[in-house]
Amino acid sequence: MNSLDFSGVGMTSQRTRERLITRLQAQGINNQRVLDTIRVTPRHLFLDEALAHRAYEDTALPIGFSQTLSQPYVVARMTELLLARGSLNKVLEIGTGSGYQTTILAQLVTEVFSVERINPLLVKAKKRFRKLGATGIKVKLSDGSHGWEEHAPFDGIIGTAAPQSVPTELLKQLGVDGVLVIPIGGLNKQELRLIKRVGDTEQFDEETIETVKFVPLLSGLTYAD
Ligand code: SAH
Repeated sequence: MNSLDFSGVGMTSQRTRERLITRLQAQGINNQRVLDTIRVTPRHLFLDEALAHRAYEDTALPIGFSQTLSQPYVVARMTELLLARGSLNKVLEIGTGSGYQTTILAQLVTEVFSVERINPLLVKAKKRFRKLGATGIKVKLSDGSHGWEEHAPFDGIIGTAAPQSVPTELLKQLGVDGVLVIPIGGLNKQELRLIKRVGDTEQFDEETIETVKFVPLLSGLTYAD
């Protein structure tokens, strides 16, 4: 656990945050480490000022470029699924976006690798990591459907944008007993899948968890401001 010091970054009311945690518990999130991490992580700093007051609502919120910061329940659920296999050293995230999910992961695993295809979002996310003193994070502007070969194998991979089908390159980059959590499907709704490599074999167990709504996984890079 790389604990972060969030003092001095501005606190919204403790009560608002507690309400979110109570809501997540009511929805079935019971991993205490995940709940504690969400409780202390300032989600309002991952949003533009005009939206910051809504940061502790359990809802997805826009971050520009038609992208969204995922709903806290979904962040909690996916993180809980990843951590269920025990402690993780290396995790790959596809879709850095605001950097919120990355920051949550950085507190729970040894190293987080995160890739994003929209440069201005990545630039902003890096600034937030610096401001928060978040360590153990490496990011890259790239198309995440190819994973991040150089740092593979990963203990876990989390996809925060939805492809139509499971990218085979991500499966290849899973280590022994590695876990991939990713939404799969079309534009309006997808199935959240939990895929596990069986030991060191080329076999994978696959489970559908629930219906979710993510932005699509797109190919190529965007540099525009
Ligand atoms: N984890 C983010 C969620 C952002 S939404 C957060 O906590 O804020 C999903 C992100 O995936 C978007 O920023 C989008 O640009 C990115 N994305 C979509 N397709 C991608 C691809 N092929 N490679 C990398 N990132 C991608």
